[in-house]
Order: sequence, then structure tokens, then C-alpha cells
Amino acid sequence: MALNVSRPEVQFAMETVRMAAQVAWEVERELVDHTITKSDKSPVTVADFASQALVGCLLEKTFPNDPLVAEEDSAHLKEESAAQNLGNVVRFVGRHLAYATPQTVCAWIDHGGQSPAKRFWTLDPIDGTKGFLRGDQYAVALALIVDGQVEVGVLGCPNLSNGYRPNHDGPGSLVVAVRGEGTWTQPLAEEGPLTRLRVSNIRNGVEARLLRSVDAGHTNAGRVAQLVETLGVRAEPVLMDSQAKYSVMAAGHGDLLFRLLTKAQPDYREKIWDHAAGSLVIQEAGGRVTDLMGKDLDFTQGRTLANNVGILASNGQLHETALKALAAVFQEQA
Ligand code: AMP
Ligand code: MG
Repeated sequence: MALNVSRPEVQFAMETVRMAAQVAWEVERELVDHTITKSDKSPVTVADFASQALVGCLLEKTFPNDPLVAEEDSAHLKEESAAQNLGNVVRFVGRHLAYATPQTVCAWIDHGGQSPAKRFWTLDPIDGTKGFLRGDQYAVALALIVDGQVEVGVLGCPNLSNGYRPNHDGPGSLVVAVRGEGTWTQPLAEEGPLTRLRVSNIRNGVEARLLRSVDAGHTNAGRVAQLVETLGVRAEPVLMDSQAKYSVMAAGHGDLLFRLLTKAQPDYREKIWDHAAGSLVIQEAGGRVTDLMGKDLDFTQGRTLANNVGILASNGQLHETALKALAAVFQEQA
């Protein structure tokens, strides 16, 4: 099996995510002061908007009839108090698209305010904002969805090497999954050879490694502890922000990921851009992604996965075992 990189949608997604991740990386290097300004969110604001503006502009040019469903809109940037941020967004976007102006940048961002359709793209311009501010993991995540199925999923991870290894000194990873054609990675910084990614072969919970959010508020830590015990997991979990976790699992360096609902937000529904690209990255590497009940993710319900509760991602071999453990833990709680 080979990846057909000349298919227009695949070529577009790879080139665009490469450029958007490059701009995010430039903002991270130039505007984030990891030692002093951790509480200053403006760099992530600049990177979010710059990334979305680039993707919005290039999508409008390449596939003018395809809607874009993306996380941000330009309302904040248009406020008087955000003038400096807007200036920075235009400056960073302008390095890649010389004709960027405040007006065009806002219009390109708002290209992402469309509704899902039979065929559409979904974008998280910076997934893992807290990781971005720490200089850890974050990802630009873009997916093409047709008839509710993810057809192409691309992640740009500037601080991850070979699709799995945290590395702040580059070259980063571009991770590409195409339905029926596998999951592949190449260096983000330059177009190197594509390497196929495959999930691990681990069948037993005792040998499994968990991938977890750094942000404890994105899952139910107590229940995860119960699951760890039920499954007999011994290894320390790998803590990582963003869909970079999905790439790590696709590369065989983590076997299970639970996203449980928190007590604070029991009705939280996952956003489509947080899982569309990453779910295909895992599936095409041989793994499985469902919700906590074992239901397939339903990308036909608008901006959220309204018909699903939480997320279970695995190397496939561990999926049924993990679903049983989840059922047992839920029953105990009832
Ligand atoms: P992670 O780095 O894996 O924790 O994922 C980051 C993503 O979690 C963000 O892009 C948010 O969209 C999403 N998120 C925000 N709040 C919650 C929540 N209460 N439960 C689950 N996910 C959330
Ligand atoms: Mg996100």
C-alpha cells in the first residue's frame, strides 16, 4: 500500500498544514517567553488566528465550494484592545502570504465559520494551547469529511519527531492519514521521505501504556485510576497535550487513551476538530477509535460529536478489553 500524494485533497492538506504549523512554530519561537509570560495568552491567540487565516485563505482558493468548520472567529481580533494582536497576526501570515492585510486576514479566519455539509473540512488551528505556551506538544489538525466519514486527516506537530518523540529542537512531524492508504509521517521542516506508522501489538492490559491529557480537567482522573486498576496497567502514563497523542499511538508508542466526562462538565460533548484528523490517524495505523460505549464517532451532527460520549482510542487489540473495563467501572458507579 502506498500513499497517493498527488490526489489534490491530500496534496492540499499536507501543504497547508505544513505552512500553518510552520507559522505556529515561528510564533512559538518569537513571541512565547516560556520563563516569564506563561499567563500571557496573546502568543497563542496570534498563532491560533494566523494558522486559521492561512488555512482559510488556501482552502478558499483551492476548493472554493468546500465549507470550513474551524474553532476560531475574528470577533476578538476586531476589538480595539486587540489591535496589537491583529498586527502580529498580519505580520506572521504576511511572511507566507505577502498580500495579507487586517481585512483579508479577518475574512480568511471567518471562512472557518461555515456549517458542516455533505463534504467539508474541519480545523483546529492550534490544538493543545497549554502545550503551546509551555513549549510542549501542540498540533494543527485538519480533516476532510465526506458523508460523515473522515477521508483525509493531517496533523502538524512542530515539537514531535518521527511522529512520536517529543523534541523541541525540530524537525517536527507532519502526520498524514488517508482512508484506505494508511498513516504516514515525514519531517515537518522539509519534505523528506514518508514513513509508514503502525500501532503496537500489545494485547494485554498489563503491558499497556496509557496516553493522557496534561490538563486533568479534560477527563475524570478518579475513574481513569479505576480503569488502570481493572486493566492491570503498570506503566506510568505518557502525559501529552493535543492530538499529538493520536500520532504517538499510531506510531506504536502508546496503546490506550480514555477521554471520560468530568464531574464539572457531565454534558460536555467533544468538538469535531479535536478528533476528526486524529481518529483517522489511529484507524489507518491499525487502531480503533469509538466513544466510551463502543459507538463509532458520528461526524454528521454539526460542530460537536453530539451522539457520542467521551472517547476511547486504542491499538485495536485492546479495544474490547477496554470497553469491558469501562462497562465494569460504570456499573460500579451506578
Ligand atoms: P488535550 O490536550 O488532549 O487535553 O485536548 C485539548 C482539547 O480538549 C482542547 O482543544 C479542547 O477543545 C478540549 N476540551 C476543553 N474542555 C474539555 C472538557 N471539559 N473535556 C474534554 N475536552 C475538553
Ligand atoms: Mg483542540
